Amino acid sequence: MRSTEVVIIGSGFGGLAAAKQLAKSKVETVLISATPEHLFQPLLYQVATGVLPAQEIAPSIADVLADKKSIDVVEGYVTALDAERKVITYSTDDGSEQIAYEFLIVAAGASQGYFGHDEWAESTFSLKTRDDAIDLRAHLLDCFEAPLADETAHTFVVVGAGATGVEIAGQIQELGLRYFTDAPATVHLVEGAGDVLPVYGGKLSDFARKTLEKSGIDVMTETVVTDIDGDAVTVRAADGTERVLRARTVVWSAGVKATPLAQVVAEATGCETDRAGRLLINPDLTVGGRADVFAIGDMTSLDRLPGQSPVAMQQGRHAADMIRGDTVRGTRFRYLDKGSMAVINRHNAVVDAPFGIKLTGFLGWLTWLGVHLFYLVGFRNRVGAVLSWFRSFAGSARPGFAQVDRSAGRVADAGGADGTGDRRPLAESAA
Ligand SMILES: Cc1cc2nc3c(=O)[nH]c(=O)nc-3n(C[C@H](O)[C@H](O)[C@H](O)COP(=O)(O)OP(=O)(O)OC[C@H]3O[C@@H](n4cnc5c(N)ncnc54)[C@H](O)[C@@H]3O)c2cc1C
Repeated sequence: MRSTEVVIIGSGFGGLAAAKQLAKSKVETVLISATPEHLFQPLLYQVATGVLPAQEIAPSIADVLADKKSIDVVEGYVTALDAERKVITYSTDDGSEQIAYEFLIVAAGASQGYFGHDEWAESTFSLKTRDDAIDLRAHLLDCFEAPLADETAHTFVVVGAGATGVEIAGQIQELGLRYFTDAPATVHLVEGAGDVLPVYGGKLSDFARKTLEKSGIDVMTETVVTDIDGDAVTVRAADGTERVLRARTVVWSAGVKATPLAQVVAEATGCETDRAGRLLINPDLTVGGRADVFAIGDMTSLDRLPGQSPVAMQQGRHAADMIRGDTVRGTRFRYLDKGSMAVINRHNAVVDAPFGIKLTGFLGWLTWLGVHLFYLVGFRNRVGAVLSWFRSFAGSARPGFAQVDRSAGRVADAGGADGTGDRRPLAESAA
């Protein structure tokens, strides 16, 4: 059986940050991930709406870590943990493999939660993986290109008005206003809380709501989904009034639950989990009674920290620093909150920065642009993203649509003759 000093599970924000930190001390590390890419999830909504081609937010994790000679990247899906023997089991295309470790860092993220209605996963779109975004992108194209008389095709329901819900609703509306100009969209944004972007609150939530409504989006707060049956989405407002929305597209961005590996780790280490299945980790990020197993990021719950990339990255570095001896073992993790932001639509964002700084509108959007460019992984991706953003936001192109496979009976290439993804006339598809 192969053995190594550290095994990291997951190639997301937490896993990548931990790997880079361990590489500073040349700690022998194997990073195992179910997906071959490092996915920049905050921009998935832009892939789904054609703003960015998928590859710009999903570089290969092996390429990203290619210059870190102490790190070996393995594609595999971890299925079991024997915490006593310090061995994990994972499956690959060639079958089941095992690897022994001295230290384990688990960073397997989260998946979509449906508040006890897992069957809704079948009839809704989620935005968690690269494939989710690619599927939604093809579906949105089909809907916008459907005959105008097909009203359900041109109606979109987004459930959950957190950052992802606001961003995808804003971009779907923009598709109708600026790209498929002959086919306006009807977008309903449904949120159970009293505000959109409820974690921001106050001035920022008010600004987001007004901006969305001004663009034509129907914002329904204090409203919950009670049923989804085919094209019919039943929602209930706080006063008990029910309404049925008929839409071919329902994007679900309302809840999270830990990936299945969290349960495997919980059982192997005796760690408790919360209602969403997240590991209730110790303050030093260790799990249960084990000093050699760390869990970080979205699959964990600690101090009510948000499920955001800076938390996962800082936790990854903290766990790595304790392993490589740069920080004393057992040191409590302390999160440095550098603020958060959400885009509403083109040229409009809200930013909640430290020291009470709150930005809205164009200034917020410029801040968002700079920060995301800084954190995008890889020089080529940054250049590619800048070009795509320029074409999408200064112009009205959607470079990502050029990637959609237009075969299988779909209408001709949305990219036009030059394959650029620029606006194509709707006429022939509506006929
Ligand atoms: C649509 C969307 C928008 C977001 N927007 C923002 C934002 O604007 N700002 C922000 O800060 N955060 C945002 N987030 C949250 C942010 O992306 C997460 O907090 C962050 O990705 C968590 O990092 P992680 O390492 O814990 O998990 P992830 O990045 O999800 O990585 C999990 C990794 O584990 C792997 N994995 C899972 N199970 C297994 C297994 N059994 N075996 C092997 N590998 C496995 C996966 O393949 C993946 O590589 C957004 C998330 C989504 C989905």
